[in-house]
Amino acid sequence: MGYDLSTFRSELSKYDLKMDVKQEQQFIRYYELLISWNEKINLTAITDFEDVLIKHFADSASIASMDCFRSAYEKEGSLSLIDVGTGAGFPGIPIKILFPGVRLTLLDSLQKRVNFLNEVVSELGLSDVNTVHGRAEDFGKDPAYREQYDFVVSRAVANLAVLSELCTPFCKVGGSFISYKGDHGAEELADANRALSLLGCEVRSQIDFKLSDEEFHRFLFDIHKVKATDRKYPRPAGTPQKKPLV
Ligand code: SAM
Repeated sequence: MGYDLSTFRSELSKYDLKMDVKQEQQFIRYYELLISWNEKINLTAITDFEDVLIKHFADSASIASMDCFRSAYEKEGSLSLIDVGTGAGFPGIPIKILFPGVRLTLLDSLQKRVNFLNEVVSELGLSDVNTVHGRAEDFGKDPAYREQYDFVVSRAVANLAVLSELCTPFCKVGGSFISYKGDHGAEELADANRALSLLGCEVRSQIDFKLSDEEFHRFLFDIHKVKATDRKYPRPAGTPQKKPLV
């Protein structure tokens, strides 16, 4: 089947990004695997090709417009990044395809989704990708993961006050947690102020944008880690959600 990538290419051009033939083939194969596995396990409600290109792939790629990420990648040609609650691989896999030097960890608490991710990593020939089955509350305490990453990303996992406790323990001091948020991003940010300060973080910058022909806004927040997170965070599995740090 012939796939038309023109809308995706034009979305990427907004971030000054161009794909080579290999990257285009990787995105197409990723789409095919997503649709075929989606018949057996629940991965996404969005299945139309154009919709996946815009709402999953281009949305994931929007990190390219964050100066902190782009300049770190361009300077070093490599950086470490963990995607917390990655599900079917968003935003981590599109970031890896577009920025192949990223050393990627994909973390999710559902084994079936991790099985899918293993297949994607193998079929797309991606190197330097570590898939992990487990909860952020547990791995955030593990010295092999805690404060080991230049960047932490997460999309559609929890509200920002909860999410910050799940994500920021993975981030090195001097690194950033980039939170992908929808229309209510600004309100969530206001509610997360206390949590961010308890976790040793501050918001350094933010962007908001609209995808293709969508009405609503999306936000990306650069939550910068200014000091080490207190060892009491993250609290045991389930507690951040039951008793958010608001
Ligand atoms: N990030 C993907 C996206 O934007 O399409 C998936 C979003 S999905 C709504 C939320 C995912 O987060 C699920 O796959 C779920 O298993 C995972 N998740 C939720 N809580 C988690 C936790 N505490 N630790 C690890 N993964 C978690």
